[in-house]
Amino acid sequence: MLVMRWALALFVFWIAQTVSWAAASNRPTVLVLMSYHQNYTWEKDMLEGIESVWANADQNAPHLLLEWMDTKQHADETYKDYFHQFFGQKYANQHFDMVIAGDDNALSFVSDNPQWFEKIPVIYGGINGDPFSILRGRPNTTGVMEHFDFTRTYQLAVKLHPTASQMIVISNNNETARGVLSYVYSDLRRLKTSSQTKILPVKEWRGLSLKTLEERLKTIDANKTLIFFFGAFWNERDNTLLDPSEMAAFIRARTQAPIYSDTDSTLGYGVVGGYFNDGRANGVLMAQMAKRVLEGNSTRNVPVVTQTPYKLAFDAKELKRFGISTKSLPKNATLMNRSPSLLDSAYRPFLLGSLITVLVLFIAAAVFAYLARTENRQRQALSDASLKDELTGLKNRLSLGLSLQELAGQQQLGRVVLIVFGLSRFKMINDSYGHAVGDELLQSVTQRILPLLDQHGELARFSGDVFSVVYTFDDEQMLEQFLFQLERAFDIPFALEHQHLVVKMSCGVSVADLRELDHAQLIREAETAMHMAKKNNVMRCHYEQYMHANNTRDREIEEMLPEALRSGAITVDFQAVRNIDQQCTVGYEALARWRNSLIGSVSPVDFVRVATESGQMAALTRYILRLACTEFKSLLALDSNLYLAVNVSVGDLYGADFCQTLDDTLQETGFPANQLVLEVTEDMSLNNVDVVRSMLNELRQRGVRVSIDDFGTGYSSMRYLSSYTINTLKIDRSFVQDVIENESNQKIVRAVVSMASDLGVSVITEGVETMDQVRLLRRLGCICIQGYVFSRPQPLASCLEQLRRDLSRTVEVVPKGQGQRDA
Ligand code: C2E
Ligand code: CA
Ligand code: CA
Repeated sequence: MLVMRWALALFVFWIAQTVSWAAASNRPTVLVLMSYHQNYTWEKDMLEGIESVWANADQNAPHLLLEWMDTKQHADETYKDYFHQFFGQKYANQHFDMVIAGDDNALSFVSDNPQWFEKIPVIYGGINGDPFSILRGRPNTTGVMEHFDFTRTYQLAVKLHPTASQMIVISNNNETARGVLSYVYSDLRRLKTSSQTKILPVKEWRGLSLKTLEERLKTIDANKTLIFFFGAFWNERDNTLLDPSEMAAFIRARTQAPIYSDTDSTLGYGVVGGYFNDGRANGVLMAQMAKRVLEGNSTRNVPVVTQTPYKLAFDAKELKRFGISTKSLPKNATLMNRSPSLLDSAYRPFLLGSLITVLVLFIAAAVFAYLARTENRQRQALSDASLKDELTGLKNRLSLGLSLQELAGQQQLGRVVLIVFGLSRFKMINDSYGHAVGDELLQSVTQRILPLLDQHGELARFSGDVFSVVYTFDDEQMLEQFLFQLERAFDIPFALEHQHLVVKMSCGVSVADLRELDHAQLIREAETAMHMAKKNNVMRCHYEQYMHANNTRDREIEEMLPEALRSGAITVDFQAVRNIDQQCTVGYEALARWRNSLIGSVSPVDFVRVATESGQMAALTRYILRLACTEFKSLLALDSNLYLAVNVSVGDLYGADFCQTLDDTLQETGFPANQLVLEVTEDMSLNNVDVVRSMLNELRQRGVRVSIDDFGTGYSSMRYLSSYTINTLKIDRSFVQDVIENESNQKIVRAVVSMASDLGVSVITEGVETMDQVRLLRRLGCICIQGYVFSRPQPLASCLEQLRRDLSRTVEVVPKGQGQRDA
């Protein structure tokens, strides 16, 4: 029940910011109602397909309002009631012109709630079985049926794995799964009578717990078994929902047997291949049907599509594992994870082209070096670093520079763009999963980007996690399309060593005329733009003149930071957190400050970001932790109940030696662990639940508390929040700023406070600036407040002074020794 309420809050959080705009315009408003949650691959792909139909928005493109029901994961009636209530409240004054319903729960919801949807057209998709039994005669509907082409996939599978003598079918034990199983059997019966196909005996593993499944997978003979699994995997006993891709990865990690499944989202996670239901193509089709209806066609004239769009695709890695040649696949099959090979005809022209280019470059480089009288240095560099990056086989930075120089020399017409892109969290991934996984990620990125390039483009690895693409082009649209594809390439998680990681990138773009190309300048500009993209936390940034100055400042910060840490130039201020009921200070947050005589005062937002980008964050955290604990002891001497909150980055938590640093600091400073709170920002999208959970456990064992900072602004997934031990939530300033006039923010704050209280999690509201806000927040249930209204962050001496004053004033009112206060 608590979990459900959490889910409900997250829904509100996540979408509340986007609702208000819809009312303002004349475009039709279309509700996209999804049965699952936002990370569920099948529906994520479907949504991407739906959105793509209106991507180049015309004047009539509808406003899409998106709602994830999440009732697949929380299938019980109480949650459904919550969702119902939530929906009614959220859309009380909203008119919809149409609903697009993804999967059966959404369609049932529409059909069960005529009060909201009675007259409007409904377009459905992902309906396995009979939509008419759900719709019960409701008019004005059409859509796409979901029917997995089991027959053809099965025929392929028995052909590709001739030693298999049994088939195991893994599925849920619900109605959908039983529906799927029934057509598996009927397809098998039909095959038996109508074809030569070998029919394997079937073992059904229905509704097993993950633990039992794991045990059973260990016992099978991989050579003799074919595994089929269908859809998501929901298990009541575990209270877990694995989406199809997670399910594929789970099974693949536990058996060597070949695995087949129904949706394309499993491809790349361990399934071999087959005729998949194509999530994206389903979405596109649904949206095209919706478009026709919005253009004035009656749903009767847009007939139901019974042939689910499919995609015949295979994972080359898996094929290789079973020694299956691509020749034995149907002609129109596409391959993923394909590695380049000279023997592979598709890559031959590309590789030959690259070889020739490399050769030409060698010659050009030598000539250039001679002419520039830098022969010795150049030759040395060429022979030392060679021109290739060993890990990925791509060109390296030097080689790329030479390519650009050569392009400049040709004096051709047209333009060239340099795109430099860096991966987010690469260091964190290296630290937490090990370098082998980091290397594998770099290789996967290479493999994902290479196929996007045609003869106009070239990929190189610049350094560490930074890649570059040089792309020559004639018209802007071509460039835009390429950038779009590049960005979409990071939408899908990377499957590595049975982990799948969500990895984002930030790219910097700089364009030049080929005739005026200055290669060094182009590289500088693209790098600057990339730093800007990272800084602003956006995917793409095009170089503009003003960035030059900003970038220079970042480099200055980066260079001066080590000295600042050595010399103690960085200090901490403390900001009080007040309990407004008891009218006392309960703790302080330490905030780093850096006033530098050369570059002026540097905002912590900037130096924390630069420290993260330049790998200096662990050192900065260690420094702040020690300094804050040392200074804070004089405040503790005045009031031993106070707590100290220190900000740490998620990257710090993943670092292998964080606990050691913490122990050392606590011991050296003699700071009591149970008075320390670590504030972490709410960003746990690295899919390693286990690492985070065990980290939080370690902290708990030490008595250190954990607080989620900036709550409501980041990515948060139900699964993380409900399974981690968090002590405090800090509601982000953005919810407070306009809380007086913004009713939806008021609702959010109230909901969060009430849920947190159910879970035994305390709440701090931060960034409170006026007494009006304080009074309103109190009515919404907030008791602990941090903000300028009570005190700004200030140096220790001022805090001591203020606390002394406070204590002398309250000593008569509040009895002493009330035990430890809440953080
Ligand atoms: P944060 O952790 O969310 O810290 C709260 C920020 O809000 C602080 O900004 C604080 O000065 C500001 N603030 C507090 N009350 C109010 C208010 O009533 N109104 C307004 N407008 N602002 C208020 P500051 O000190 O500039 O720090 C910014 C961010 O830099 C912090 O956000 C935190 O993310 C980061 N940071 C600061 N010190 C450290 C540190 O030691 N380690 C790490 N990892 N990050 C730090
Ligand atoms: Ca904070
Ligand atoms: Ca904050």
